[in-house]
Amino acid sequence: MTSSTLFTNAQLIDGSIVDVATDHGTIAWIGPTGSSPVVSNQKVNLNGYVLSSSFVEPHAHLDKAFLADRISNPAGDLMGAIRGLEQVRGTITHEDLVERATRAVNLMSQNGVTSIRTHADTTISGGLSSVHALLEVKKNCAHFMDIQVAMLLEWPVTGTAGKERQALARDAISVGVDVIGGCPHLDPDPRGAVEYLLSLAIDAQLPLDLHADENMRSDSSDLEHLADVVIRDGVSHQMNASHCVSLSTRSENDIDRIAAKVATAGITVTALPQTNLFLQERGVSTNPARAIAPIHRLQQAGVVVAAGADNLQDPFNLVGRGDPLEIASLLMISAHSTAYQAIQMISSNSHKAVHGLNSSMAVGEPANFTAIPATNLRESIAMGPPDRIVVYGGVVIDNQIRNRK
Ligand SMILES: [Zn+2]
Repeated sequence: MTSSTLFTNAQLIDGSIVDVATDHGTIAWIGPTGSSPVVSNQKVNLNGYVLSSSFVEPHAHLDKAFLADRISNPAGDLMGAIRGLEQVRGTITHEDLVERATRAVNLMSQNGVTSIRTHADTTISGGLSSVHALLEVKKNCAHFMDIQVAMLLEWPVTGTAGKERQALARDAISVGVDVIGGCPHLDPDPRGAVEYLLSLAIDAQLPLDLHADENMRSDSSDLEHLADVVIRDGVSHQMNASHCVSLSTRSENDIDRIAAKVATAGITVTALPQTNLFLQERGVSTNPARAIAPIHRLQQAGVVVAAGADNLQDPFNLVGRGDPLEIASLLMISAHSTAYQAIQMISSNSHKAVHGLNSSMAVGEPANFTAIPATNLRESIAMGPPDRIVVYGGVVIDNQIRNRK
């Protein structure tokens, strides 16, 4: 199935029933059923399916996928997971990493994902091993998945101790990472780390994606500092801040002030409710805080908020099915998003965070979409059914295609 295909009787996420014609990888026509002027040599009946623009996973760690049974994290928190990983890092081979990451990519593809931004540990002890392995996976899977590899630079990146890691960052850029990233909230000088990573991204002409404010401390201010620097210096660059959970511990006035700056700076925010709820507030029995970025207030200020899974069955998150609909369901429960808001956060908003561009089911857009067997959008999120029809570049992706090298 290649050039021109007519997908009939599909229910869009707004409830309307349409036919969709694709031609050479793009959406050529959308309109009432039975009225397509496009001559199509293939037909796929989507009666009984909900059709969304394809899912984008904006924040994965494919190098850690499926390590849950090999690494223990008795503390259950972020630092416990990091310590556990460091203890076994030397036992992870290239082949092992490629196999697990590929398995995760295939799982996400079956669930309707056609694009993934994965972070790759870039550390003194591991060097560029994760970067090399994930660039290989990116190449192997390019015919059915658009993968970006973001360096996740170990901290500190500031001060004398940061020099070695800054050299490592230059090496990662030279071998072809797609995105610059790091963890300012773990650096002894968070503000200095934000400024270093931003300048690195600008110099390399690569998007920036920070692990920002991944804690519940009200004095954590990575996101606000990034926005302040961007506005002060008149920076125009593709930037995303992931996590941003500490923002939810601030007063409403603080949140609104910071959200307005983030909107002005053009920074997208990626909420990661599953891993944040798993790792944060361990041991807090009374009134535990809900560890999720304040999605609604950010959106009210005009910030594009995406949502992703973060970790997949590793010590940072023991569960997860590699399914954005699982995240959408969690957004409805824990962040009180509507079904429509939730599906936008895992599709078009995630596309904006990863690619810097909006995506939609519209003529001229790439023919990347997912059909979910369900009677309506709410039910599709509630049930998260298997047997989805996944279209990438106008081609229906099946396991034969996924397994093709
Ligand atoms: Zn992460």
